[in-house]
Amino acid sequence: MNRRTFFVLLGVPGAGKGTQAKLLEERLGLPQVSTGDIFRYNLKNETALGILAKSYMDKGELVPDEVTIRMVEDRLTQSDVAKGAILDGFPRNLAQADAFDKIAAPYGGVSLVPLIHISDEEAMTRITGRRVCRSCGAVYHIDFNQPQRAGVCDLDGGELYQRDDDKPETVRNRLYVYYKQTSPLIGYYYAKGLLAELDGTRPIDQVQADLLDLLGAEEAVA
Ligand code: ADP
Ligand code: ADP
Repeated sequence: MNRRTFFVLLGVPGAGKGTQAKLLEERLGLPQVSTGDIFRYNLKNETALGILAKSYMDKGELVPDEVTIRMVEDRLTQSDVAKGAILDGFPRNLAQADAFDKIAAPYGGVSLVPLIHISDEEAMTRITGRRVCRSCGAVYHIDFNQPQRAGVCDLDGGELYQRDDDKPETVRNRLYVYYKQTSPLIGYYYAKGLLAELDGTRPIDQVQADLLDLLGAEEAVA
C-alpha cells in the first residue's frame, strides 16, 4: 500500500489546532480532517449522526468511540486523503489512538504529533471569543483574529456565529475531559518518538512558521 502522511495535532480546546490545520492544508497539500467539523456539518444537516453527536457536544463530553472511529474510517476512504491528512481533534483518547494506529498501519503509521501548548486561562479567552463561519467553518476571534467586517466571513461572506459549546460552563468541562481523556495521548505518542512540542501562545503566523519547519522537514523524508 502507498505511504501516507498522517499528522495528528494535539492541544487543549482553543490551542489553535483548527486554525493551523486550515492554514497547513494548502501549504502541505494534505486535507484537514476535523472530527468536530464533521459532527457540526452533520448537525447542520440534521442527520442521525448529527443529532446523536449533539447530545454529547452540548455537555462537552466525547461522542462514543464506536461512532467516531467509524466516521473517521469512512472519511479516510475518500480520494482527497490519498496522500494523507492533518488530523484535528482525533484521536482524543487512548482507545481512539489505538484504533487509529491500526487504521494508519498499512500506510506507514502516524508520521508526527505536534502538541500545541497554551495555558487554560488562554484557552478560555480564546474559546469564548471564537467565532466560526456558518457556511465554510473558517475560524476567527473577536480580538485576536478579526474578520474584515464584523460578523462576516472574509472567505465566503458567510455569517459568523458562536458555537453553543463555546460558553464558559461547557468549556470548563471540555478542559476537564481533555486532561482526563486526551492528555494521556501525550505520553502515548512520546513513547513512540512521535511527539513534537510547540509554543502555541505566539501569534498565528509564527505558530504556523514553527509548524511548517517541523512538518515540512518530516514530509520531505516521508
Ligand atoms: P482549536 O481547534 O484547538 O480548538 P482554534 O483554531 O479554533 O482552536 O482556535 C481557538 C480560538 O483562538 C479561535 O478564535 C482562533 O481565532 C484563536 N487563535 C488561534 N490561534 C491563535 C493564536 N496563535 N493567537 C491568538 N489567537 C489564536
Ligand atoms: P475544539 O476545537 O474546541 O477542541 P472540537 O471541534 O474538536 O472542539 O470538538 C467539539 C466537540 O465534538 C467535542 O467536545 C466532542 O463532543 C465532539 N468531538 C470532536 N472530536 C471528537 C472525538 N475524536 N471523539 C469524540 N468526540 C469528539
